[in-house]
This record gives sequence, C-alpha cells and structure tokens, in this order.
Amino acid sequence: MESVKVQNLIKNYGKSEAVKGISFSIEKGEIFGLIGPNGAGKTTTLRVIATLLQINGGSITVMNYDVEKQPEEVRKFISYLPEDAGAYKNLTGKRYLEFIANFFDPKQASEMVNRGITIANLHERINDRVDTYSKGMMRRLLVGRALMTNPQLAILDEPTSGLDVVNAQEIRKIIKNTTLEGTTVLLSSHNMLEVELLCDRIALIAQGKIIEQGKPKALMEKYNARNIEEVFTKVVS
Ligand code: ATP
Repeated sequence: MESVKVQNLIKNYGKSEAVKGISFSIEKGEIFGLIGPNGAGKTTTLRVIATLLQINGGSITVMNYDVEKQPEEVRKFISYLPEDAGAYKNLTGKRYLEFIANFFDPKQASEMVNRGITIANLHERINDRVDTYSKGMMRRLLVGRALMTNPQLAILDEPTSGLDVVNAQEIRKIIKNTTLEGTTVLLSSHNMLEVELLCDRIALIAQGKIIEQGKPKALMEKYNARNIEEVFTKVVS
C-alpha cells in the first residue's frame, strides 16, 4: 500500500519556482530519501507534504487522504521534524516532550514521553533547559519528539545534521527500528553515504526537479558508480 503519493507537485514562492512538477510515491514501511544540493527544494517538498505550506499545482495524498482537501486527517498520521528547532526553549527537555505529548493525546502522554526520552537518550540532561543544549542534543530531543508518537509517516528534514558520527549512527538505527514497527519514513539529507546506508529508495533532486530515483544499489549499477555521490555527479553532468 502507498503511504505517500506525490504527483506533478508544483510549489512557488511568489514568482520563484521552488518545486517544478515532481512525482514519487512511498510504500508503507519504506525509508525514502530526498537528496540534493542546497536550494534544490527538499525542505519545501517535505513541508507541503506535512501540510505546512499550500501547493500551487499537482496533488499529494498521505494514506489516501488529500493533503490540500483533508489536512486535518493527514495531520493525524504524520510527524514532522523541522530542520531548525522552534520555540519552548525555556522548558526542560522532559517538560518539552510532556507538553507535546499532552497536546497530541493526553491519554497516551506518559507512554509517549517515556518513548521520547529513550529515543533522545540524553541521560540526566533531559532535565536541563532546552536552551542549554548543544546542537546535537537539540537534534536528538527533536527526533525523540517526532518519533515518540509512533506516527504512520515520519517526515524528517535532515535528521542527523549537526550530529557527530556516533550520534548520527544511533539516530539512523532508531529511524530504521521505527520502520520495523510499521512507520514509513520520508527524510532529506545532504549526506550521500547516509542515504545509501539508510534508505530503501532515494530521489535525487536538483533545481526543483527529480532527476533520478530508485533503489541506491540499482542506481549505482545503472550509472556504473561506486557510490551515490558518483551517481549524482554522473546524472547532473
Ligand atoms: P537546503 O539543502 O539548503 O536546506 P532545500 O533543498 O531544502 O535546501 P528549499 O529550502 O526547499 O531547498 O528551497 C528551495 C528554493 O525555494 C530555494 O531557491 C529557496 O531560496 C526558495 N525558498 C525556500 N523558502 C522560501 C521562502 N520562504 N520564500 C522564498 N523563497 C524560498
């Protein structure tokens, strides 16, 4: 079953065309990665799927619900990890998770918070204020927040950005494990090795267009490349 179906998606900011008619679909339980240079349109694509931006053309469905016409339904299924942290920095990490979990579903809040704390794995620092966290700690808290609700679809914008090697590996393991529990994952990354290791399928995106998509291994074979970076170079040249 398809969790996400994007067809001929167009998104403009004023006169500038950020996303120029892209199409892809994601099967349930898959990890699908968008990869491409700065300004390619990755964040924009994730944000429209997350119902945070209006689209200018094409269509998107999440679990067969139309993102434009039924955003409230779509929001029940998804969880979005933004590229940057938002407000509430004066709360402790734990209070922050409690606040979000209660907002989401008060009955399941304590279970969610425990799950979020385990994923964030910040040890005693979970009781410190968020504004004292390092970039990597903040990222871990937000990944915990995004995945604690056991979403049907997790939309993760650069989930490992700013993390050291060990932390990045741990977050990748967590992402992989959530799919074993039935979550579908859509993520963006600049890290070509990361998508090669983590994603079942990837889409290479540049200047608002998908220039190639498929399973990492199949793409490497198709372009006779040793890694995805080489695939990318060959596709764009
Ligand atoms: P990065 O890897 O740098 O995060 P990205 O692939 O996520 O880039 P987007 O952030 O989606 O790219 O940006 C796509 C294009 O849309 C860029 O040209 C960018 O300047 C433009 N853009 C993004 N957000 C806005 C906005 N709020 N207003 C105007 N233009 C925007």
